[in-house]
Amino acid sequence: MKTFNIPVTYRSPLINAIKNKRKLDDRLKKDYAPTLLDFGVLQIYLARHFGFCYGVENAIEISFRTLEENPGRRIYLLSEMIHNPHVNADLQQRGLQFLQDTHGNQLIPFSVLNADDIVIIPAFGTTLDIEKKLNDIGIQTAKYNTTCPFVEKVWNRSEQIAKKDYTVIVHGKPDHEETRATFSHASFHTPTLVLNNMIEAIELAKYINGEKSAGYFAEEFEGQYSDGFDINKHLERIGVVNQTTMLASDTQAISDFLKQTMIIKYNLNALNVGERFADTRDTLCYATNDNQTAVSGMLNVEADIAIVVGGYNSSNTSHLVELCEEKLVTFFISSEENILSPKEILHYNFHTKQELLTANYLPASEPVKLLLTSGASCPDAMVENVIRKLAGFYNVANKMEEMTMSLK
Ligand code: SF4
Repeated sequence: MKTFNIPVTYRSPLINAIKNKRKLDDRLKKDYAPTLLDFGVLQIYLARHFGFCYGVENAIEISFRTLEENPGRRIYLLSEMIHNPHVNADLQQRGLQFLQDTHGNQLIPFSVLNADDIVIIPAFGTTLDIEKKLNDIGIQTAKYNTTCPFVEKVWNRSEQIAKKDYTVIVHGKPDHEETRATFSHASFHTPTLVLNNMIEAIELAKYINGEKSAGYFAEEFEGQYSDGFDINKHLERIGVVNQTTMLASDTQAISDFLKQTMIIKYNLNALNVGERFADTRDTLCYATNDNQTAVSGMLNVEADIAIVVGGYNSSNTSHLVELCEEKLVTFFISSEENILSPKEILHYNFHTKQELLTANYLPASEPVKLLLTSGASCPDAMVENVIRKLAGFYNVANKMEEMTMSLK
Protein backbone atom coordinates (compact mmCIF):
# COMPACT_ATOMS: atom_id res chain seq x y z
CA MET A 1 0.00 0.00 0.00
CA LYS A 2 1.17 3.56 -0.74
CA THR A 3 3.20 5.28 1.97
CA PHE A 4 2.56 8.91 2.85
CA ASN A 5 4.64 11.87 3.89
CA ILE A 6 3.19 12.93 7.23
CA PRO A 7 4.80 15.04 9.98
CA VAL A 8 7.41 13.05 11.87
CA THR A 9 5.87 14.24 15.14
CA TYR A 10 2.94 11.87 14.48
CA ARG A 11 5.25 8.86 14.14
CA SER A 12 6.68 6.71 16.91
CA PRO A 13 10.02 4.87 16.58
CA LEU A 14 8.85 2.06 18.90
CA ILE A 15 5.51 1.54 17.19
CA ASN A 16 7.03 1.83 13.72
CA ALA A 17 9.48 -0.91 14.65
CA ILE A 18 6.68 -3.11 16.03
CA LYS A 19 4.42 -2.60 13.00
CA ASN A 20 7.26 -3.27 10.55
CA LYS A 21 8.26 -6.45 12.33
CA ARG A 22 4.69 -7.73 12.50
CA LYS A 23 4.22 -6.96 8.81
CA LEU A 24 7.40 -8.83 7.88
CA ASP A 25 6.50 -11.83 10.04
CA ASP A 26 2.90 -11.99 8.81
CA ARG A 27 2.62 -10.59 5.30
CA LEU A 28 -0.81 -12.08 4.71
CA LYS A 29 -2.24 -10.52 7.88
CA LYS A 30 -3.51 -13.79 9.29
CA ASP A 31 -2.22 -13.35 12.84
CA TYR A 32 -4.42 -11.06 14.94
CA ALA A 33 -2.74 -11.80 18.28
CA PRO A 34 -1.51 -8.65 20.08
CA THR A 35 2.17 -7.73 20.59
CA LEU A 36 3.36 -8.05 24.18
CA LEU A 37 5.47 -5.19 25.52
CA ASP A 38 6.87 -6.89 28.58
CA PHE A 39 8.14 -4.42 31.17
CA GLY A 40 8.07 -7.08 33.92
CA VAL A 41 5.83 -5.32 36.47
CA LEU A 42 3.77 -3.92 33.60
CA GLN A 43 2.63 -5.96 30.62
CA ILE A 44 1.07 -4.05 27.74
CA TYR A 45 -0.65 -5.98 24.96
CA LEU A 46 -0.74 -3.84 21.85
CA ALA A 47 -3.36 -4.65 19.20
CA ARG A 48 -2.06 -6.11 15.91
CA HIS A 49 -3.61 -3.24 13.91
CA PHE A 50 -4.36 0.28 15.09
CA GLY A 51 -3.69 3.92 14.28
CA PHE A 52 -3.63 5.96 11.08
CA CYS A 53 -5.34 4.33 8.10
CA TYR A 54 -4.80 5.00 4.37
CA GLY A 55 -7.49 7.70 4.18
CA VAL A 56 -6.24 9.60 7.22
CA GLU A 57 -2.59 9.61 6.11
CA ASN A 58 -3.67 10.70 2.62
CA ALA A 59 -5.71 13.59 4.09
CA ILE A 60 -2.88 14.67 6.41
CA GLU A 61 -0.33 14.60 3.59
CA ILE A 62 -2.52 16.70 1.27
CA SER A 63 -3.43 19.22 4.00
CA PHE A 64 0.14 19.84 5.17
CA ARG A 65 1.42 19.97 1.57
CA THR A 66 -1.30 22.48 0.64
CA LEU A 67 -0.26 24.70 3.56
CA GLU A 68 3.41 24.50 2.55
CA GLU A 69 2.82 25.18 -1.14
CA ASN A 70 0.42 28.10 -0.73
CA PRO A 71 1.88 30.69 1.65
CA GLY A 72 -0.21 33.84 1.81
CA ARG A 73 -3.39 32.23 0.48
CA ARG A 74 -6.47 31.71 2.61
CA ILE A 75 -6.83 27.97 3.23
CA TYR A 76 -9.97 26.45 4.71
CA LEU A 77 -11.02 22.98 5.66
CA LEU A 78 -14.67 22.29 5.06
CA SER A 79 -14.92 20.73 8.54
CA GLU A 80 -12.68 18.72 10.85
CA MET A 81 -10.27 16.89 8.58
CA ILE A 82 -10.37 13.78 10.75
CA HIS A 83 -11.85 13.18 14.18
CA ASN A 84 -8.70 13.88 16.16
CA PRO A 85 -8.55 17.17 18.10
CA HIS A 86 -4.73 17.23 18.25
CA VAL A 87 -4.23 16.88 14.49
CA ASN A 88 -6.99 19.43 13.81
CA ALA A 89 -5.41 21.85 16.31
CA ASP A 90 -2.00 21.44 14.57
CA LEU A 91 -3.57 22.46 11.27
CA GLN A 92 -5.38 25.43 12.83
CA GLN A 93 -2.13 26.62 14.39
CA ARG A 94 -0.60 26.70 10.92
CA GLY A 95 -3.37 29.06 9.82
CA LEU A 96 -5.97 26.70 8.43
CA GLN A 97 -9.59 27.58 9.30
CA PHE A 98 -12.68 25.36 9.54
CA LEU A 99 -15.79 26.46 7.62
CA GLN A 100 -18.19 24.10 9.42
CA ASP A 101 -18.26 22.14 12.65
CA THR A 102 -18.55 18.38 12.73
CA HIS A 103 -22.40 18.55 12.67
CA GLY A 104 -22.48 20.74 9.56
CA ASN A 105 -23.16 24.02 11.40
CA GLN A 106 -21.59 26.98 9.60
CA LEU A 107 -18.64 28.55 11.48
CA ILE A 108 -17.58 30.87 8.64
CA PRO A 109 -20.19 31.80 6.02
CA PHE A 110 -19.48 30.71 2.44
CA SER A 111 -20.21 34.33 1.46
CA VAL A 112 -16.71 35.39 2.67
CA LEU A 113 -15.04 33.00 0.19
CA ASN A 114 -13.73 33.95 -3.23
CA ALA A 115 -12.24 32.04 -6.15
CA ASP A 116 -8.66 32.52 -4.88
CA ASP A 117 -9.36 30.65 -1.66
CA ILE A 118 -8.50 27.03 -1.13
CA VAL A 119 -11.07 24.74 0.48
CA ILE A 120 -9.88 21.26 1.43
CA ILE A 121 -12.55 18.55 1.43
CA PRO A 122 -11.98 16.21 4.41
CA ALA A 123 -11.45 12.42 4.33
CA PHE A 124 -15.19 11.86 4.98
CA GLY A 125 -16.09 13.56 1.67
CA THR A 126 -18.91 16.06 1.35
CA THR A 127 -22.40 16.48 -0.07
CA LEU A 128 -23.11 17.34 -3.71
CA ASP A 129 -24.92 20.44 -2.51
CA ILE A 130 -21.86 21.84 -0.70
CA GLU A 131 -19.59 20.91 -3.60
CA LYS A 132 -21.87 22.86 -5.97
CA LYS A 133 -21.96 25.90 -3.66
CA LEU A 134 -18.15 26.00 -3.57
CA ASN A 135 -17.81 25.42 -7.31
CA ASP A 136 -20.30 28.23 -7.97
CA ILE A 137 -17.96 30.58 -6.07
CA GLY A 138 -15.16 29.42 -8.38
CA ILE A 139 -13.35 27.24 -5.84
CA GLN A 140 -11.65 24.16 -7.29
CA THR A 141 -12.84 21.42 -4.96
CA ALA A 142 -11.34 18.61 -7.05
CA LYS A 143 -7.77 19.85 -6.60
CA TYR A 144 -7.85 19.79 -2.79
CA ASN A 145 -10.12 16.85 -2.23
CA THR A 146 -8.94 14.36 0.44
CA THR A 147 -12.05 12.15 0.29
CA CYS A 148 -10.89 8.63 1.15
CA PRO A 149 -11.04 6.21 -1.79
CA PHE A 150 -12.75 3.70 0.50
CA VAL A 151 -15.58 6.19 1.07
CA GLU A 152 -15.78 6.80 -2.69
CA LYS A 153 -16.03 3.05 -3.12
CA VAL A 154 -19.25 3.12 -1.09
CA TRP A 155 -20.61 5.92 -3.31
CA ASN A 156 -19.70 3.93 -6.44
CA ARG A 157 -21.35 0.81 -5.08
CA SER A 158 -24.48 2.84 -4.28
CA GLU A 159 -24.54 4.20 -7.83
CA GLN A 160 -24.14 0.71 -9.30
CA ILE A 161 -27.11 -0.70 -7.43
CA ALA A 162 -29.11 2.49 -8.04
CA LYS A 163 -28.73 1.88 -11.77
CA LYS A 164 -30.39 -1.48 -11.21
CA ASP A 165 -33.32 0.23 -9.45
CA TYR A 166 -32.46 -0.74 -5.89
CA THR A 167 -33.16 1.66 -3.04
CA VAL A 168 -30.00 2.33 -0.98
CA ILE A 169 -30.15 1.72 2.77
CA VAL A 170 -27.16 3.36 4.49
CA HIS A 171 -26.17 1.89 7.86
CA GLY A 172 -24.60 4.92 9.57
CA LYS A 173 -24.99 7.75 12.03
CA PRO A 174 -27.33 10.24 10.32
CA ASP A 175 -25.43 13.34 11.49
CA HIS A 176 -21.91 12.01 10.78
CA GLU A 177 -20.10 13.88 7.96
CA GLU A 178 -19.43 10.70 6.01
CA THR A 179 -23.01 9.46 6.23
CA ARG A 180 -24.35 12.86 5.18
CA ALA A 181 -22.00 12.75 2.17
CA THR A 182 -22.91 9.16 1.27
CA PHE A 183 -26.61 9.95 1.64
CA SER A 184 -26.23 12.91 -0.71
CA HIS A 185 -24.37 10.91 -3.37
CA ALA A 186 -26.69 7.89 -3.16
CA SER A 187 -29.89 9.92 -3.14
CA PHE A 188 -28.79 11.73 -6.31
CA HIS A 189 -29.29 8.38 -8.08
CA THR A 190 -32.01 6.56 -6.14
CA PRO A 191 -34.32 6.74 -3.11
CA THR A 192 -32.13 6.47 0.00
CA LEU A 193 -32.72 5.84 3.70
CA VAL A 194 -30.29 5.96 6.65
CA LEU A 195 -30.55 3.37 9.44
CA ASN A 196 -28.78 4.00 12.72
CA ASN A 197 -28.97 0.52 14.17
CA MET A 198 -30.76 -2.82 14.34
CA ILE A 199 -33.69 -1.32 16.28
CA GLU A 200 -34.43 0.90 13.28
CA ALA A 201 -33.90 -2.05 10.89
CA ILE A 202 -36.53 -4.02 12.81
CA GLU A 203 -38.97 -1.11 12.51
CA LEU A 204 -38.20 -0.73 8.80
CA ALA A 205 -38.96 -4.44 8.31
CA LYS A 206 -42.47 -3.80 9.67
CA TYR A 207 -43.07 -1.32 6.82
CA ILE A 208 -41.66 -3.82 4.31
CA ASN A 209 -44.02 -6.49 5.65
CA GLY A 210 -46.97 -4.15 5.74
CA GLU A 211 -47.29 -4.66 9.54
CA LYS A 212 -46.99 -0.95 10.18
CA SER A 213 -49.04 1.76 8.53
CA ALA A 214 -47.25 4.17 6.17
CA GLY A 215 -48.50 7.10 8.26
CA TYR A 216 -45.86 6.54 10.95
CA PHE A 217 -42.88 6.43 8.60
CA ALA A 218 -42.31 10.18 8.10
CA GLU A 219 -42.10 10.85 11.83
CA GLU A 220 -40.16 7.73 12.72
CA PHE A 221 -37.44 8.27 10.12
CA GLU A 222 -37.55 12.06 10.03
CA GLY A 223 -34.45 13.54 8.39
CA GLN A 224 -33.20 10.08 7.37
CA TYR A 225 -34.86 9.58 3.95
CA SER A 226 -34.58 11.26 0.58
CA ASP A 227 -37.21 13.61 -0.86
CA GLY A 228 -40.18 11.78 -2.34
CA PHE A 229 -39.40 8.50 -0.55
CA ASP A 230 -42.50 6.33 -0.96
CA ILE A 231 -42.53 3.28 1.28
CA ASN A 232 -45.12 1.57 -0.94
CA LYS A 233 -42.74 1.69 -3.92
CA HIS A 234 -39.22 2.17 -2.64
CA LEU A 235 -38.87 -0.83 -0.34
CA GLU A 236 -39.44 -3.46 -3.03
CA ARG A 237 -35.78 -3.71 -4.05
CA ILE A 238 -33.09 -2.72 -1.56
CA GLY A 239 -29.34 -2.89 -0.93
CA VAL A 240 -27.36 -2.03 2.21
CA VAL A 241 -24.14 0.01 2.26
CA ASN A 242 -22.51 1.47 5.34
CA GLN A 243 -20.63 4.33 6.90
CA THR A 244 -17.18 2.79 6.61
CA THR A 245 -16.40 2.99 10.32
CA MET A 246 -19.46 1.23 11.75
CA LEU A 247 -19.12 -1.98 13.72
CA ALA A 248 -18.65 -4.59 10.97
CA SER A 249 -20.73 -7.17 12.84
CA ASP A 250 -23.62 -4.66 13.22
CA THR A 251 -23.72 -3.88 9.49
CA GLN A 252 -23.57 -7.59 8.71
CA ALA A 253 -26.42 -8.34 11.15
CA ILE A 254 -28.61 -5.54 9.71
CA SER A 255 -27.89 -6.66 6.17
CA ASP A 256 -28.64 -10.33 6.98
CA PHE A 257 -31.84 -9.35 8.79
CA LEU A 258 -33.17 -7.21 5.91
CA LYS A 259 -32.21 -9.89 3.38
CA GLN A 260 -34.18 -12.45 5.38
CA THR A 261 -37.11 -10.01 5.57
CA MET A 262 -37.13 -9.76 1.76
CA ILE A 263 -36.84 -13.54 1.37
CA ILE A 264 -39.90 -14.10 3.55
CA LYS A 265 -41.96 -11.23 2.13
CA TYR A 266 -41.37 -12.20 -1.52
CA ASN A 267 -41.02 -15.95 -1.05
CA LEU A 268 -37.48 -15.99 -2.40
CA ASN A 269 -34.59 -18.41 -2.01
CA ALA A 270 -30.78 -18.21 -2.01
CA LEU A 271 -30.73 -18.36 -5.81
CA ASN A 272 -33.17 -15.58 -6.63
CA VAL A 273 -32.87 -13.29 -3.57
CA GLY A 274 -30.76 -10.95 -5.74
CA GLU A 275 -33.95 -9.90 -7.52
CA ARG A 276 -34.94 -7.96 -4.39
CA PHE A 277 -31.77 -7.62 -2.32
CA ALA A 278 -28.49 -6.36 -3.80
CA ASP A 279 -25.23 -7.99 -2.74
CA THR A 280 -23.11 -5.13 -1.32
CA ARG A 281 -20.92 -6.97 1.16
CA ASP A 282 -17.74 -5.33 -0.08
CA THR A 283 -18.40 -1.79 1.25
CA LEU A 284 -16.68 -2.38 4.62
CA CYS A 285 -13.41 -0.47 4.90
CA TYR A 286 -10.20 -2.53 5.29
CA ALA A 287 -8.97 -0.44 8.27
CA THR A 288 -12.24 -0.81 10.18
CA ASN A 289 -12.13 -4.56 9.59
CA ASP A 290 -8.45 -4.88 10.56
CA ASN A 291 -8.73 -2.74 13.69
CA GLN A 292 -11.91 -4.45 14.92
CA THR A 293 -10.57 -7.95 14.22
CA ALA A 294 -7.33 -7.01 16.00
CA VAL A 295 -9.35 -5.99 19.07
CA SER A 296 -11.10 -9.36 19.02
CA GLY A 297 -7.65 -11.03 18.87
CA MET A 298 -6.40 -8.84 21.72
CA LEU A 299 -9.41 -9.72 23.87
CA ASN A 300 -8.30 -13.37 23.96
CA VAL A 301 -5.66 -12.24 26.47
CA GLU A 302 -6.71 -12.18 30.12
CA ALA A 303 -6.01 -8.60 31.24
CA ASP A 304 -6.97 -6.17 34.01
CA ILE A 305 -8.08 -3.19 31.92
CA ALA A 306 -8.16 -1.89 28.35
CA ILE A 307 -7.19 1.59 27.17
CA VAL A 308 -8.38 2.93 23.81
CA VAL A 309 -6.88 6.19 22.49
CA GLY A 310 -8.68 8.48 20.02
CA GLY A 311 -10.85 11.55 19.47
CA TYR A 312 -14.06 11.48 21.51
CA ASN A 313 -16.12 12.17 18.36
CA SER A 314 -14.37 9.42 16.39
CA SER A 315 -16.86 6.81 15.27
CA ASN A 316 -14.31 4.08 14.54
CA THR A 317 -12.66 4.58 17.95
CA SER A 318 -15.95 4.34 19.83
CA HIS A 319 -16.61 0.98 18.17
CA LEU A 320 -13.25 -0.33 19.39
CA VAL A 321 -14.25 0.83 22.89
CA GLU A 322 -17.60 -0.93 22.52
CA LEU A 323 -15.87 -4.22 21.65
CA CYS A 324 -13.46 -3.96 24.61
CA GLU A 325 -16.26 -3.06 27.03
CA GLU A 326 -17.93 -6.40 26.33
CA LYS A 327 -15.01 -8.13 28.00
CA LEU A 328 -13.34 -5.84 30.55
CA VAL A 329 -13.17 -2.39 32.16
CA THR A 330 -12.21 0.03 29.37
CA PHE A 331 -10.95 3.61 29.44
CA PHE A 332 -11.46 5.76 26.33
CA ILE A 333 -8.90 8.58 26.44
CA SER A 334 -7.96 11.23 23.90
CA SER A 335 -4.24 11.38 24.82
CA GLU A 336 -1.73 10.58 27.56
CA GLU A 337 -2.77 13.82 29.25
CA ASN A 338 -5.91 12.05 30.43
CA ILE A 339 -3.77 9.74 32.54
CA LEU A 340 -3.45 12.16 35.43
CA SER A 341 -1.44 9.94 37.79
CA PRO A 342 -1.08 6.27 38.78
CA LYS A 343 -4.23 6.86 40.82
CA GLU A 344 -6.51 8.87 38.49
CA ILE A 345 -7.63 8.77 34.89
CA LEU A 346 -9.94 11.12 33.01
CA HIS A 347 -11.88 9.21 30.37
CA TYR A 348 -14.89 9.47 28.10
CA ASN A 349 -18.14 7.58 28.36
CA PHE A 350 -19.37 7.78 24.76
CA HIS A 351 -22.76 6.29 25.72
CA THR A 352 -23.58 9.23 28.01
CA LYS A 353 -21.21 11.68 26.25
CA GLN A 354 -19.55 12.61 29.55
CA GLU A 355 -15.94 12.84 30.64
CA LEU A 356 -15.45 11.03 33.94
CA LEU A 357 -12.72 10.87 36.57
CA THR A 358 -11.98 7.38 37.85
CA ALA A 359 -9.74 6.66 40.85
CA ASN A 360 -7.63 3.52 41.35
CA TYR A 361 -7.91 2.45 37.74
CA LEU A 362 -4.67 0.45 37.88
CA PRO A 363 -4.86 -2.83 39.84
CA ALA A 364 -2.77 -3.06 43.00
CA SER A 365 -1.33 -6.50 42.25
CA GLU A 366 1.60 -6.92 39.85
CA PRO A 367 2.23 -7.62 37.09
CA VAL A 368 -0.39 -5.21 35.75
CA LYS A 369 -1.77 -6.47 32.45
CA LEU A 370 -3.43 -4.04 30.09
CA LEU A 371 -4.69 -4.02 26.53
CA LEU A 372 -3.98 -1.01 24.35
CA THR A 373 -5.24 0.15 20.96
CA SER A 374 -6.17 3.35 19.14
CA GLY A 375 -8.54 4.60 16.46
CA ALA A 376 -7.76 5.20 12.79
CA SER A 377 -7.31 8.95 13.36
CA CYS A 378 -4.88 8.70 16.28
CA PRO A 379 -1.15 9.34 15.69
CA ASP A 380 1.15 6.50 16.82
CA ALA A 381 3.20 9.07 18.73
CA MET A 382 0.23 9.51 21.05
CA VAL A 383 0.07 5.78 21.76
CA GLU A 384 3.81 5.81 22.48
CA ASN A 385 3.22 8.70 24.91
CA VAL A 386 0.59 6.60 26.70
CA ILE A 387 3.01 3.68 26.97
CA ARG A 388 5.78 6.00 28.22
CA LYS A 389 3.55 7.56 30.85
CA LEU A 390 2.33 4.21 32.18
CA ALA A 391 5.84 2.72 32.12
CA GLY A 392 7.04 5.83 34.00
CA PHE A 393 4.71 5.02 36.89
CA TYR A 394 6.59 1.72 37.32
CA ASN A 395 10.06 3.22 36.66
CA VAL A 396 10.53 1.08 33.55
CA ALA A 397 10.20 3.70 30.78
CA ASN A 398 13.93 3.35 30.07
CA LYS A 399 13.20 -0.11 28.62
CA MET A 400 11.35 1.43 25.66
CA GLU A 401 14.52 2.38 23.77
CA GLU A 402 15.91 -1.12 24.39
CA MET A 403 12.67 -2.60 22.99
CA THR A 404 12.86 -0.40 19.90
CA MET A 405 16.46 -1.40 19.21
CA SER A 406 15.73 -5.11 19.69
CA LEU A 407 13.04 -4.94 17.00
CA LYS A 408 15.32 -3.39 14.36
S1 SF4 B 1 -11.41 4.48 8.19
FE1 SF4 B 1 -11.39 3.55 6.14
S2 SF4 B 1 -12.83 4.79 4.95
FE2 SF4 B 1 -12.33 5.98 6.78
S3 SF4 B 1 -10.62 7.27 6.18
FE3 SF4 B 1 -9.72 5.39 7.03
S4 SF4 B 1 -9.39 4.02 5.26
FE4 SF4 B 1 -10.79 5.65 4.63
